[in-house]
Amino acid sequence: MAGYTLVAREHKQEDTIIRLGEVVIGGSAKVYMAGPCAVESREQLLTTAKLVRQGGAQMLRGGAFKPRTSPYDFQGLAEKGLEYMAEAREATGLKIVTEVMDISAVPVVAQYADILQIGARNMQNFALLKTVGRLDKPVLLKRGLSATLEEWLQAAEYILYEGNQQVIFCERGIRTFTTHTRNTLDMSVVPVIKQVSHLPVIIDPSHGTGRRDLVESMALAGLAAGADGILVEVHPNPEEALCDGPQSLNPKEYFSLMQKLRAMEDFLFRLARPRAVGE
Ligand code: PEP
Ligand code: MN
Repeated sequence: MAGYTLVAREHKQEDTIIRLGEVVIGGSAKVYMAGPCAVESREQLLTTAKLVRQGGAQMLRGGAFKPRTSPYDFQGLAEKGLEYMAEAREATGLKIVTEVMDISAVPVVAQYADILQIGARNMQNFALLKTVGRLDKPVLLKRGLSATLEEWLQAAEYILYEGNQQVIFCERGIRTFTTHTRNTLDMSVVPVIKQVSHLPVIIDPSHGTGRRDLVESMALAGLAAGADGILVEVHPNPEEALCDGPQSLNPKEYFSLMQKLRAMEDFLFRLARPRAVGE
């Protein structure tokens, strides 16, 4: 008994495709989510949202409720942050993804978000998983800092078991003995998830490396590994970011990344397309 059934490919052969209006997650086109680690101010968010739109991502990410290791660190703007996210959606047409940290905040986050993020630190908060499992909204389920694939699949099973079939896995790096990166991005988990589950999976190279200079190569590698999309942190001025500045792309880096991701997407599409003999 693997501890999961509903998430398994054996249970459902065809890929799960999640639709949010025109945005399709898990289909043949890739999905890009970008934005600041935290919503810091109205101006910061609206400026970033415009950049994100301009670069071609379909979704704006940004935390209003932030899980911080130290209680002295910036904790997010809470509902005010959600209001700014909604305003950014109005202004740009981007869908919004934002984290929900505890059960009590589920109603307010669900009122604003298009996708609810469950953070790495909450991957095994079973009460929270059950609560979002009763919503009719997609859930982005980040991998726990030290979670095995089985534990991650079982966490998703909690959500599907409650009725919500719209789960997107997000590989964001796990803790290992290395010190050259913040986390170790487990790229090989992508094709393995594709084998064992029908649910979409995306890569977060920002938290996965903690280093801005590594985000581009790992994002491209993520698409090559078969990920359905990429989530990256972007800030108009990373040096002044209140959270995760060292791993946030500046606008120029973000535009360059999006250009390369589209080229990679085209290349992968051609690679997958069967050719006639002699073509
Ligand atoms: C985030 O997306 O900013 C975040 C806190 O992610 P994680 O839960 O993966 O650390
Ligand atoms: Mn972050």
